[in-house]
Amino acid sequence: MPAKMNSGSESGHPAALTPAQTLADRDLRVVWHPCTQMKDHETLPPIAIRRGHGAWLEDFDGKRYLDAVSSWWVNLFGHANPRIAAALQDQAETLEHVIFAGFTHEPAVRLAERLVSITPPGLSRCFFADNGSAAVEVALKMSFHYWRNKGETRKTRFIALANGYHGETLGALAVGDVDLYKSLYDPLLMDVITAPSPDCYHRESGESWQDYSLRQFAHMERLLAAHAHEVAAVIVEPLVQCAGGMRMYHPVYLTRLREACSRHGVHLIADEIAVGFGRTGTMFACEQANISPDFLCLSKGLTGGFLPLSVVLTNDDVYAAFYGEYTALTAFLHSHSYTGNPLACRAALATLDIFADENTIRGNAAKAQYLGRRAQELAEHAHVAEVRQCGMIVAVEIAKNKGSREPYPWQERRGMRIYRHALALGVLLRPIGNVVYFMPPYVVDEAEMDLMVDAAAQGIELATCD
Ligand code: PMP
Repeated sequence: MPAKMNSGSESGHPAALTPAQTLADRDLRVVWHPCTQMKDHETLPPIAIRRGHGAWLEDFDGKRYLDAVSSWWVNLFGHANPRIAAALQDQAETLEHVIFAGFTHEPAVRLAERLVSITPPGLSRCFFADNGSAAVEVALKMSFHYWRNKGETRKTRFIALANGYHGETLGALAVGDVDLYKSLYDPLLMDVITAPSPDCYHRESGESWQDYSLRQFAHMERLLAAHAHEVAAVIVEPLVQCAGGMRMYHPVYLTRLREACSRHGVHLIADEIAVGFGRTGTMFACEQANISPDFLCLSKGLTGGFLPLSVVLTNDDVYAAFYGEYTALTAFLHSHSYTGNPLACRAALATLDIFADENTIRGNAAKAQYLGRRAQELAEHAHVAEVRQCGMIVAVEIAKNKGSREPYPWQERRGMRIYRHALALGVLLRPIGNVVYFMPPYVVDEAEMDLMVDAAAQGIELATCD
């Protein structure tokens, strides 16, 4: 049943619904929201947002929420960013969409040129899709298909990391390892080889991130040695396993992985859908390991959070393996209706212009330092097990027992308490289980970062007091 939004006034007459309540009420009659137990809305109806500006969202009652999670990590330069909006308006009046097979257009060509020029060396080809999961499917299929085209028919499997996340479609889900999203669907999923994660939350006390990541790499090396003959690719989220709780590891793991994949004749797929476009402190996380993957998946921040778009970049060697006579049937026949959508490509170009004109990566360094310093204050709390940071991603992990890191049982939904409390304070935090994190738009200022951290501190206090 839809949540009852209007319980009536004390006089017996129904109280008038505010515009926000009216919209939420209508929503609950017809909409089914993602990643949500809809019954939760009986006590907390969806918040109807009227407009956004900078790092802020505003509801129909005029209440404002600081978007500390960039609306699922997509927004880079603020809501309703005027520069991106203007580019979109111009494009909408020129060409909104055109079939991308047999036809092309300037925004897609310019975007592909720009992406090739700013991504790690060797990535020379862009294949567009329209969301992150679709990009992962493209990369997996392309890798498998490459080996087929080369006559290597035994390479049909993938190696992925424990605690990884790559999306919700069946292929992407199969190479992910977050139980909450995956385990129910196991009977539908391909069989993947899972390597232990380099996630440094599990390092021994006194052990460095580098040493732990290197130690964990030994497992990957063994799996590659044993399975390379049947493995098409290894897929990883470089540096931060985001949906897995903002778990982080050292770039040395990626450096070693690149070298081992090349040595064993296995592709490396870097899923930078969440960490690309400056989130880890460099434009792309792979830069910190000085590596080029065989496939680079990008989405989310690609359009500054305006429109769905994704892209898989690959190299000349992969491209060449598909190039031939039609009748040889080596072509990559994957397609989506909205592939290379001109509006989305224009939004992406405007986003890249902002990066270049405002020297965002440099400017972010000071913001990251400030946010990290403020968040570090939470480390003293009796139920904060760790405060960790990678560039503009800062995470605070709460635990039942700080010393042993015994987690709170998930059924207690402590993160949900923090979410609700922060909302009341006008901050949109969306903890992942026991992990509160900040991944704000890059337009955030120090006062806003203070507000985020203070709301988290209060929320954590409240959620861990029993
Ligand atoms: N890969 C990673 C690393 C992600 O974080 C996500 C989304 N959270 C995806 C893939 C899937 O992207 P989408 O939600 O656009 O399908």
